[in-house]
Amino acid sequence: MAVDILAVAAHADDIELGCAGTLVRWKAKGGRFGIVDLTRGEMGTRGSVETRDREARQAAEILGAEFRETLDFGDGGLRQTRENELALIEVIRRERPRLILTSFPDDRHPDHRRAGELTTDAAFYAGLRRIETSFPAHRPQQTIYFSTAYVHAPTFVVDVTEAMETRRAAVRAFASQFHDPRSTEPTTLLSAKGFLEAIEARARHFGFLIGVEFGEGFVSKRPPRVEDPIAAFEGFEPGF
Ligand SMILES: [Zn+2]
Repeated sequence: MAVDILAVAAHADDIELGCAGTLVRWKAKGGRFGIVDLTRGEMGTRGSVETRDREARQAAEILGAEFRETLDFGDGGLRQTRENELALIEVIRRERPRLILTSFPDDRHPDHRRAGELTTDAAFYAGLRRIETSFPAHRPQQTIYFSTAYVHAPTFVVDVTEAMETRRAAVRAFASQFHDPRSTEPTTLLSAKGFLEAIEARARHFGFLIGVEFGEGFVSKRPPRVEDPIAAFEGFEPGF
């Protein structure tokens, strides 16, 4: 059975920090989504591959993903090879998503940039019949991008207020990656005190932009079609 949305990123936890609220909302509406991590996280400063794998599975369960698949494109040097492109094309064709969410192809971490580029290209090539794999051609209707370290002006913002508790729980599943005062492992950008507060503040800011408590911002090269422009901006200005 096909999924409606496929979320693809370099590392387990990129999805949870960037777009998990949107996935949870979609699930709540009866939709289906899957997650693909392009690397095993073997270069991570904290936690082992086994720990991260366990944490990723737990997070996927909390979010309600239909599946979470880990590919092995090389952490800390994600390889944009034809072979890897074909492996991702195969997953896209098998799952037939209508929408792909991935990291914006410009970021502090080169793996995030490469993941965004590779996924954009694979989503397009998946629709070319002459590229033969074991599943028939399928092209998602759009690839849209979430920000990781760098923030990008969003094309649109999804209200994720109702999904925030579940998103937080999924993020907490990655206990080895985030701040833990008892941990003896080296401190990283993610595990520094205040990182999760900053991520939460970003969701608040995106929410503020659309007049709700929490939001997730996305960049799309094609703007979404809006049926009712008045409803889209409802409740912004109090009547003076
Ligand atoms: Zn990452």
